[in-house]
Amino acid sequence: MTPVEALKTYYGYDNFRPLQAEIIEHTLTGNDSLVLMPTGGGKSICFQIPALLMPGTAIVVSPLISLMKDQVETLRSNGIPAAALNSANDERINQQIKEQCRSGQLKILYISPERLLVELPWFLANAKISLFAIDEAHCISQWGHDFRPEYTQLSTLRQQFPKTPVIALTATADKITKQDILDKLELHQGRCFISSFDRPNLSLDVKRGYSAGDKLTVVLDIIKRHHRESGIIYCLSRKATEELARKLQDKGVTAEAYHAGMSIYQRDKVQEDFINDRIDVVVATIAFGMGIDKSNVRYVIHYNMPKSIESFYQEIGRGGRDSLPCETLLFFNIQDLITLKSFADQSGQQDINNEKLKRMEEYAEARVCRRRILLNYFGEISDCRCGNCDVCSSPPNLFDGTIIVQKALSAIARTNQQAGSRMVIDILRGMMNIDITSRGYHMLKTFGVGRNIPTRDWQDYILQMLHMGFIEIAYNEDRHLKITSLGNEVLRGTRQVQLAEITQPDTLVAKPRKKQRQEKVKQLFETPANADMEDKALFEKLRELRHTIATEINCPAFVIMSDKTLHALATTRPTTKEAFAGIHGIGEHKCKLYAERFTAFIKSHIAST
Ligand code: ADP
Ligand code: ZN
Repeated sequence: MTPVEALKTYYGYDNFRPLQAEIIEHTLTGNDSLVLMPTGGGKSICFQIPALLMPGTAIVVSPLISLMKDQVETLRSNGIPAAALNSANDERINQQIKEQCRSGQLKILYISPERLLVELPWFLANAKISLFAIDEAHCISQWGHDFRPEYTQLSTLRQQFPKTPVIALTATADKITKQDILDKLELHQGRCFISSFDRPNLSLDVKRGYSAGDKLTVVLDIIKRHHRESGIIYCLSRKATEELARKLQDKGVTAEAYHAGMSIYQRDKVQEDFINDRIDVVVATIAFGMGIDKSNVRYVIHYNMPKSIESFYQEIGRGGRDSLPCETLLFFNIQDLITLKSFADQSGQQDINNEKLKRMEEYAEARVCRRRILLNYFGEISDCRCGNCDVCSSPPNLFDGTIIVQKALSAIARTNQQAGSRMVIDILRGMMNIDITSRGYHMLKTFGVGRNIPTRDWQDYILQMLHMGFIEIAYNEDRHLKITSLGNEVLRGTRQVQLAEITQPDTLVAKPRKKQRQEKVKQLFETPANADMEDKALFEKLRELRHTIATEINCPAFVIMSDKTLHALATTRPTTKEAFAGIHGIGEHKCKLYAERFTAFIKSHIAST
């Protein structure tokens, strides 16, 4: 069997994605490699197909038992003999698995690094190993963001198995980590395969300065648009996850909080329920996601700003792994910035973390295509205008904001630079509250001069001023606003300021944009899912059927069939086994298992409409 035949037979896919075929060929000829691909890029197939085509068992080192479980289930659902050797299994089962390796029945074995080191002598003596795949290979490097000491001992593999190809895979791209992985694994002859980090199916949206109420409205709107689909919402604090989950539950959404303060049992339950589509939304802190291999996450929302672009990209990367459209939205306000700044200051790596935060902030503030910024950030020089981000779909209008900025600067100056942003806004808006009156700020000349501008807009303008360098936040002085020398030029009238107009969360703005974007999105996908031809009612029914089967055999729905496959079925409506076999994502095994049931189901649907 050739690699492309294996792709069709086992996975039901017609074509390799960029680099997959080369990596497979390279491994089949016995060479080492390091593969850098974004989350959802299709790393697994790069070692699974060589594993299928080579004699013996491939050993896949993976850091998380939960990840192994999903991968093994996915492989088995495609008729590939796979298993995971780990401490979660009964030891008797582990013995059986080892027997299957010895006899050469098992093609792919997942194992944790510590377990592998214990078992290596046994493997050396008793089994034929086709290749080693080191998944999440950045865990070997202290430079990576997820160092695991157990990984460092994997360096012995190269010496103990000099003829067995090693393939290291990661979605972490920076240069130092990359070199470190090659050194630590002793892959001196290893070739690097770096694929594009672009994930064109993730739309990118940023909304600045929204109030809690506005955020909730927008979130509910997204959830409604993705009725019964899966989504993740990231918050900064445990408390915020619980509050938001409760608010969503009150609105009838099946949502659960997830954070490190919950018991392992509770966390596992939420994760399992999410993977099995029993709950639609997880509202989580960053603790959530490492073990999530769910392919049909249709939106990822950052309710607060993340601490770095790396975290951000990794988190949104958990959406749309099946390469279908996934909506991502980042909310961002000055309060987040203040909180994150104090985290960074206390982090022990103040300079690095403040710098990372600054880059994140610049991203959120930017007036150029967001994808371009992300790709440039990851070292992939790009001048794209992606057409699938908010900046591309509605470039900001600039206006002469000199007077607005002067008003704010003047208010700051008149407090002797002893007020934080909230107080300055209250002064500008002419709010008579105790904090203001007790300090006599209601007597200032600037009191109430910005009454005509809503608080939310003032927050936005102050943020813009911050980014343009007219003011600074004195974190060591109760976060009072200070005017910079550049700000003084504006105050003196020697410098003009262009502010970006604020787009309000009104549907009038959102609607035409959405349409434009859909057009663009349609052009972007591998198989231009012909949305107009799709039988929407059938799709919903097929989803039900998938859910029923998942419950019957106790396995996640997306393992049975991806959303993409369901869309293809709802568009093509195959009623024969042959037609069913031709559907994207249906390999031989799935065809055998499901052709009859699905084609009968589709037939009866057609008859009833
Ligand atoms: P990664 O491990 O890089 O995050 P996966 O290996 O899980 O990504 O692949 C992501 C998704 O893309 C999976 O659903 C996988 O089946 C699918 N996929 C991978 N390669 C192809 C291909 N050549 N054609 C179609 N789908 C693919
Ligand atoms: Zn863009």
